Amino acid sequence: MRFNVAQLLKRATGSSRRYQMREGVEDLDLELVIREPLVGQIEMVRTVDGILVRGELTTALELRCDRCLEPLIQEVEFKIEEEFRPALDMSTGAQLPYDEEEMRIDEHHIIDLTELIRQSIFLALPMHPVCRLNCFGFCDRCGQNLNEGACDCSESMVDPRLEILRKLK
Ligand SMILES: [Zn+2]
Ligand SMILES: [Zn+2]
Repeated sequence: MRFNVAQLLKRATGSSRRYQMREGVEDLDLELVIREPLVGQIEMVRTVDGILVRGELTTALELRCDRCLEPLIQEVEFKIEEEFRPALDMSTGAQLPYDEEEMRIDEHHIIDLTELIRQSIFLALPMHPVCRLNCFGFCDRCGQNLNEGACDCSESMVDPRLEILRKLK
């Protein structure tokens, strides 16, 4: 996800370029199981100080259901919007000062979107993914996945007083 922006940096403020993105990102982060390529459109706009990167992207990840712990595929859609500032002054070639937090265009005029996209995916993930809206989860006594059927625990948890009534019938 590296883009050479040397040409765009030479253009007037407001100039822009668009890129169609379709890229495999399976190796983006060890904690993420990414199952679909990253797809979307990116726009880069020359600003006074650098380049503004905007985009709308989608991918799909494998997560675990918060209730039953079964794997599920979650589509993730997110936007990015970040200004990258050059490490070097384009006209003099001098090193420009910067703070650590900033996204940088490196000294070879490359914008690397990897870190921005990695962070954006984490932010876009649902806090409590569920495999289906009415997932029953699993029994906290025997561990049975209750979507696959009821376990015997629920019966043995019947109130003994009700059990007596049932026998009287
Ligand atoms: Zn579930
Ligand atoms: Zn059970």
